Amino acid sequence: MAKTFVFKFGGASIKDAESIKNLYEIVFNRLRNNTIIVVSAMGKTTNALEEILALKLEGKDYSLKSAKILEYHLDICEGLFDSNSLIFPTVRNYFSQLERVLDGNLAQGNYDSFYDSVVSFGEMISSKIVHEYLCAKGLYCIWQDAREIILTNSDFRFAKIDWESTSRLCQKLLAPKLTQFPVVTQGFIAADQKGRTTTLGREGSDFTAAILAHGMRANAVTIWKDVDGVLNADPKRFSDSVKFEELDYKEAAELTYYGASVIHPKTIKPLANLSIPLYVKSFIHPDRSGTKIHHVQGVNTVPCIVVKDNQILVSFKVTDFTFINESHIHSVYTELERLKLSVNLLQTSAISISIVIEKELFKLEKLIYNLRNQFEIRYNESLQLITVKNHNPVLMEKLVIGKEALLEQMTRTTFQVLVKNPYL
Ligand code: ASP
Ligand code: MG
Repeated sequence: MAKTFVFKFGGASIKDAESIKNLYEIVFNRLRNNTIIVVSAMGKTTNALEEILALKLEGKDYSLKSAKILEYHLDICEGLFDSNSLIFPTVRNYFSQLERVLDGNLAQGNYDSFYDSVVSFGEMISSKIVHEYLCAKGLYCIWQDAREIILTNSDFRFAKIDWESTSRLCQKLLAPKLTQFPVVTQGFIAADQKGRTTTLGREGSDFTAAILAHGMRANAVTIWKDVDGVLNADPKRFSDSVKFEELDYKEAAELTYYGASVIHPKTIKPLANLSIPLYVKSFIHPDRSGTKIHHVQGVNTVPCIVVKDNQILVSFKVTDFTFINESHIHSVYTELERLKLSVNLLQTSAISISIVIEKELFKLEKLIYNLRNQFEIRYNESLQLITVKNHNPVLMEKLVIGKEALLEQMTRTTFQVLVKNPYL
């Protein structure tokens, strides 16, 4: 059987015309038989679309903002195509469609599906531009609508994959195309049973690459990043970070769980299940080795630091002179599950439960409202959660120095501390 490879390019790797020319070089120099190219929205387009949505919800004018996004994409096209290229009307046409969706009525309660139909335009447009450019350069490829091959349930914004249908569709629709040409498709977006657009959660394009690799039983996935690979700490925060040549799936999954943003947390599992290696490589230095994530024997002992911003500490105190028991924990967790909030740290004492969660629009308010009758609730915002795997006393000391620690937890391998962000 022919070998299949998946390449994923995130927003930063296609943020302007130069970056897209660089994408072409990378793909052209590494092209093998069956290649799937997954792209995110360009630059910070998804954030910009979210801002438009927020304006729409507040009943404010968003026309300036959407004109800006259109201009941004047209500028990129000008750097890539002749002025008579068909890409210009294509991009304009997508923006008219977007306007139409935005003009539509936002009925009560369907905010999440509205969100998905709006933000998906980022990926639709970027994939059209990339596809058109590769073809214009003589690298003929096929554009594929990801919504035809990735099926999910109807949990808009956090849709769950229907693995069986997706694999079937990959084999039926994608495989025959791949034997002819490389395929360009969108990350992040999918469709539910009724054909409505869904999305897989912010930064979900890595996950798309893994889903398609799984469906196609691919030989490898490469994620092209603006860093050299997976490092033991974010190089933007720590100047002495070191890169891993290789990393075990479990280790990589654990780092993403603690918040390492280099790979989306859901990416690892589908690949590990089929032993498909995942390469994380630099699009700036594509010939460097990067990091290979696969089954590795032996344990890693290099200390790893993951810093998560925007954390909220919420404490639930019992008010009826009882002690914390399972049923209290159960009601807090049931509410968290309902709001699709995950806990980054948990600590219980005789009379209170403390949890650390990520800041997400409107969710804290709902959580407090729904549990207000059972607990006395307090919270602290704008905190930073620092996790150290394979800790040592010197490193821990260095990390917390000058910061006010609100909560600490330590196991044999992992140290976590929640601090007030000294820069806020
Ligand atoms: N464009 C989407 C986002 O910014 C998906 C991705 O970049 O992976 O969240
Ligand atoms: Mg992105």
